[in-house]
Formats: sequence, C-alpha cells, structure tokens
Amino acid sequence: MTFSRQPELSTVGSDLQSSPNSGDLESPFDKISTISSAVSRFLEGRVNPFTLEIDEIKSPTEAVIQGRPTMLFGTNNYLGLNFDPTCRAAAAEALAKEGTGTTASRVASGSYSGHVALEREIAAFFDRRSAIVFSTGFQANLGVISGLAGPGDVILIDRDCHASIYDGCKLSGAKIVEFRHNDAADADRLITEEGVPGHRVFIIVEGLYSVAGDLAPLPDFVEVKAKHGACLMVDEAHSFGTCGELGRGVAEAQGVERDVDIIIGTFSKSVGVIGGFATSDHPAFSDLRMLARSYLYTASLPPPVVAAARASIRRIANGSDLRQRLWSNARRLYAALGEIGYDRLSEAGPVIGVRMPGFVKGYKIWHTLLERGVYVNFLIPPSTPGGSVVLRCSLSAEHSDAQIDRAIEIFAECWQTIVEGRKPAPLLSAAT
Ligand code: PMP
Repeated sequence: MTFSRQPELSTVGSDLQSSPNSGDLESPFDKISTISSAVSRFLEGRVNPFTLEIDEIKSPTEAVIQGRPTMLFGTNNYLGLNFDPTCRAAAAEALAKEGTGTTASRVASGSYSGHVALEREIAAFFDRRSAIVFSTGFQANLGVISGLAGPGDVILIDRDCHASIYDGCKLSGAKIVEFRHNDAADADRLITEEGVPGHRVFIIVEGLYSVAGDLAPLPDFVEVKAKHGACLMVDEAHSFGTCGELGRGVAEAQGVERDVDIIIGTFSKSVGVIGGFATSDHPAFSDLRMLARSYLYTASLPPPVVAAARASIRRIANGSDLRQRLWSNARRLYAALGEIGYDRLSEAGPVIGVRMPGFVKGYKIWHTLLERGVYVNFLIPPSTPGGSVVLRCSLSAEHSDAQIDRAIEIFAECWQTIVEGRKPAPLLSAAT
C-alpha cells in the first residue's frame, strides 16, 4: 500500500483491525507481527496518527507536539475542567491526605468515603435513586450490560455504538442485534422479527455519537421501548456535561429522562479525570455492582481522582456558562468548516466530524494541520460510519476566539492546497 495510490478504503481499517485466524499463526506473538506489518504498510514511515506523543501539555487547549506549539482540537476536553483550579486543589488535598491509590477493589478492601459520596452526588445530579462508580467508562459498559443481560436475552444496539458497548454485549452471552444508526423504526422492525415474546429486550444507544457528532433521537427509541416493554440504556459519555440545560445529557435536552432506564457515563471527557458510572431509579440498582465483574475484580479509583471528579461534577451542575461557551465555539468552527467546503457529518455540536475526500487526502490534511499547529483526530474504518475517513474535531469551552479563528485559517489553507490543488502558502510559524 503506498500513499501515491489511493488504497481501497474498505481495506485500510480492516487491515489494521482484523484479527488473523488463530489457526494460521505459529508464534504466540504472531498477532502482533500481523498488526505491526499492517501499520508499517499503512504509514510507510509517516507520522502515526494513532501513537502520537505529546511532548508537553500546557492547558486544556494547548500542548507541544513534535517540538511545536499546538492547539488541541481532538481531546474530548469539552469543559477544560482538568485544569480547573478548584478541581486541581481538591485532587492535591486528597493526594496529600489519602495517598495516590487505593491498591484494591472496593469489594475486597472497602470503599473510601469519597467513593460513596461520589455515587451519592452522581445520583443526586441525575435525580436518580442510586449510582455505581466504575474505574472507567469502558468498564461501566462491560459491567452493567453483562451484569444485567444474559443468554436468552436480546440486546438491540445502534450499529455505531462504542466498542465497550459491543464488548459488554458479547460478555453477556445475550443475542446481539444491530440496527441502522439512529433508526428507531429499524430497531422496532428487528425486535418484531426476533419474535421477542418470552425474551427480555434491551435497547442500547449513545446520546451524542463520538465520531460524527450527531445526537440520538431518543423520543423515538422511548416509543419503541414502551411498545416492546424493553429496557432502554443510554451512554451519555460525550453528552454528560455538554448537553441539556443542567448538563445531564441528551435525554435531558430531549425531555425524555424519566423514560430512560439506565444512564451510563464517563469521567474521562467533560469531568476531566478518569472513571465511569451508571445511574438508575430501579430500587435494587446499586446491587448490580455484585454482578459486574469489571467492578468486583479491579481496583477502585484513586482518592485524587475521586476528589477531582466530585469538584468537577459540582462545577458541571453550575456550568451553564461553560456549556454556552462550548456551544458558541462549536457553532463558530462548524459554520466556517462548512463555508470552506468541508463535508460535515452532523449538525453543530461539541464533536464535529468531517468526511475526508479519500484516505490519501485525509491523511495529508490531518498531517498538514498538525504541522501547522492544529491537532484533530484522524479516524478510519472500522471506527467510522460507512467506511469513511473522518477528521474529528472536538471543541472546548476553553478555546478562545483567536484559537478558533487561527484553526479556521489553517483548515482553509489545507482545503485550498490539498483538495483544490492551489499553490501552498509558506509554512507559518505555529499557532498561539
Ligand atoms: N462510551 C463511549 C460512547 C465512549 O466514547 C467512550 C470513550 N471514548 C467510552 C464509553 C469509554 O469511556 P472511558 O474513556 O471512560 O473508558
């Protein structure tokens, strides 16, 4: 595969992601060699977008990458709270008082009061009866889905759902049925076709999809759930903190919170730390932790993380100023990308996915943006919808107008030189 020739898009991702058949392998490390050679064929010595090293992180929106000051437009840092002074002070205080880690699972060695308080505060934030905190959002999906569902059940999932949702479903042993992205009528049809009576049915969607940036039409899924007596679970990983008046996510924004049975979320995006959670009104929900192996058999979150998460969630609860800045920044970049000619995959929002005109140009645009001081995500199949190559931008409330305007200029230069083939402008020294 060379960059002078457009590779088959459908093979780019599968080359990197497909697991070889174990029967064809000899050494225990053969799977690694297979992926290594696929990566080097794919990149041929060019900068690897998937293993990029950040030399120095300076703020929620600035870093030094490959020796150059770089503006960050691809880090899910929607509210910039990882640098918030109150959150940092809370983490520092907990670090001094309670140490760097808990060294054990909560089941084996007990919960710190911070873990219990964090769960209480999440439940209160979402106005739910209880919440369970996991060590990551990935583990929340694994634990909740595999804890609730089992063989004999049917789980309907949106085709574009996150890997952790897929893995949780696989772990459960339930039958997995994928429906077309954001298509509740397709989910309805498939449930009917499955001849569901006698089976328990779960429907799992995300609130805000992380590649295209589009929202789930939750009222439509609520209707399907009600029709079939299903359990509806919404992963609000990218919408917690960013959507809804109160920052509770897309279910809040679309007015259907009470119809969603379980909300899943992460602390790794708006909250600015690490961890995951699930919250529900079911009276026994808190005991789900006893069925969730990703909760039972892993160490609990370190005290500084718990303290920062609690401070951050308090800020999110009073964060309409942050959400307003985030959305105004998103609209500014979104409108400009459209004017330049970029093919945007959804409406304006904290995530803006733009479809690239092929793999070669897509990589060139990504790399030129990086050279000129703008970091975005380069995404390829199977992580992208419809086999497309996507540049994914994520906005932050902390982006300044000047940073966004500078990024727009660089996006425009990339479009003119790489897509329209105009003469390249001299390389400008990097951005703010
Ligand atoms: N769900 C979704 C929709 C996600 O996008 C992600 C992370 N990208 C996760 C779950 C996992 O979250 P975490 O980073 O906390 O493991």
